[in-house]
Amino acid sequence: MDLLVVGSGFFGLTIAERAAASGRKVTVLERRHHIGGNAYSEDEVSTGIEIHRYGAHLFHTSNATVWEYVNRFTAFTSYVHRVYTTHRGVVFPLPINLGTINQFFQAAYTPDEARALVAEQAGEFDARAAANLEERGIGLIGRPLYEAFIRDYTAKQWQTAPAELPAEVISRLPVRYTYDNRYFNDTWEGLPVDGYTAWLERMADHPNIEVKLSTDFFDASQPLHKQAVVGQVPVVYTGPVDRYFDDAEGALSWRTLDFEQEVLEVADFQGTSVMNYADADVPYTRIHEFKHFHPERADRYPKDRTVIVREFSRFAEPGDEPYYPVNTPADRERVLAYRELARGEKDVHFGGRLGTYQYLDMHMAIGSALSLWNNTLA
Ligand code: FAD
Ligand code: UDP
Repeated sequence: MDLLVVGSGFFGLTIAERAAASGRKVTVLERRHHIGGNAYSEDEVSTGIEIHRYGAHLFHTSNATVWEYVNRFTAFTSYVHRVYTTHRGVVFPLPINLGTINQFFQAAYTPDEARALVAEQAGEFDARAAANLEERGIGLIGRPLYEAFIRDYTAKQWQTAPAELPAEVISRLPVRYTYDNRYFNDTWEGLPVDGYTAWLERMADHPNIEVKLSTDFFDASQPLHKQAVVGQVPVVYTGPVDRYFDDAEGALSWRTLDFEQEVLEVADFQGTSVMNYADADVPYTRIHEFKHFHPERADRYPKDRTVIVREFSRFAEPGDEPYYPVNTPADRERVLAYRELARGEKDVHFGGRLGTYQYLDMHMAIGSALSLWNNTLA
């Protein structure tokens, strides 16, 4: 073995694939019973509808290197992601755009008129100097739109009052003064034609790659555990950085999600793949209806049934899957301390979402793995 990779998510598999292609023998350890990390998907047994087991995953990128690389393993459908939100029993398009604004104010504003109205309503705070998410939100879109579409949804998603959240959380929420309601601005987007798991399995399908499932790096009863390999063979570690160091600097905080899945005896539950629920009286943040991610599979999917998944958000307790880094000031300090410890680990390379305590989209995880391979490991 020339390299041990801990974790078979997109970061770990990209490293393993590159190493194998250049003639190195790689072993990948994976704690779960399947490969692919959080991008893993499987067919719901009674309907055959593909479900993203750890939350809906939409691939999008503007990085030409990443786009060329991922197309070696899968083709992509022409799916374009759009999201709607329900507020007080009425459905509006997201991200907030001219359609949302006109529907909300029951008006027919031109782009300039809408801009002027929002600028006037947003005058309460300077978005650039905002001390927290609430001030940033109001400073960007004004109080009425903020209170309708952002305040309660954000409080549900983060279980924290928006006035106590960092302003950056909504820096990625664009407002458009056109009727364009594409969710992503990227050059390329789509879903893997035969599913995420087929894509992930093709990345691992090389005679130089051995994947060991249901194998925990910290389990001393398996031969490739931490004490046995560190210092003996180069390691790429994509598990939680705090766990690697036995929480020496304290545990990092994460949000987790609970998914409530239901098979319904209707052809179409909501007419679209994702419906957000903006109001506080609905306990979940959104409902995914998975058949809408693949309209091209209409012939194959059942005509009288559908699968929906309600998503609930909460703070992760020990034993929960860590999904989104919370990033409190205490977390930031701990991350810096862990980075310092990581620098001292000889020939161990920390990467990916858990290994760097960063929210990474798939294209970012793949891009950063390609950089680690090209610039350091190769
Ligand atoms: P992961 O996929 O988390 O893989 C890490 C792997 O390491 C896991 O399989 C884990 O089991 C394994 N592991 C951990 N500890 C050990 C150990 N001790 N021993 C062995 N194995 C271990 N990205 C997008 O681009 N578009 C989206 O729409 C999107 N939606 C998302 C929705 C949700 C709810 C979440 C949580 C993420 C979403 N992402 C999305 C991000 C995407 O999941 C990540 O970019 C991707 O998973 C990063 O890959 P990774 O390899 O860094 O981490
Ligand atoms: N957001 C919101 N209302 C919505 C959708 C998003 O207020 O209907 C805010 C919320 O604070 C959320 C952030 O925008 O945390 C990012 O949302 P996005 O849907 O992009 O994140 P995801 O949960 O899909 O990673």
